[in-house]
Amino acid sequence: MSENIRPCRCLLAQTGKEETAADIKARIERLSEKERADSELYKKRLEVCTACDFLADGTCLKCGCYPEFRAAFAKNRCPAKKW
Ligand code: SF4
Repeated sequence: MSENIRPCRCLLAQTGKEETAADIKARIERLSEKERADSELYKKRLEVCTACDFLADGTCLKCGCYPEFRAAFAKNRCPAKKW
């Protein structure tokens, strides 16, 4: 019997890639208030990502980005137009 195994639908912070997650977090903290999405918008975007089939092991397979970083910029958009 074959099993259907897919990568985890996790954000970077849940993958155990601690060094990369810390680097992304530090980069987000350096964004200006004008550049950065507000916390409510950021949270909503990441909720969409965690339900998305393109998310695999902390990376968006649609564009190769880390959704936590992409979603942090107010002006950014989802490459699949989901947010
Ligand atoms: S396609 Fe959009 S919603 Fe899906 S993981 Fe990538 S950024 Fe998130």
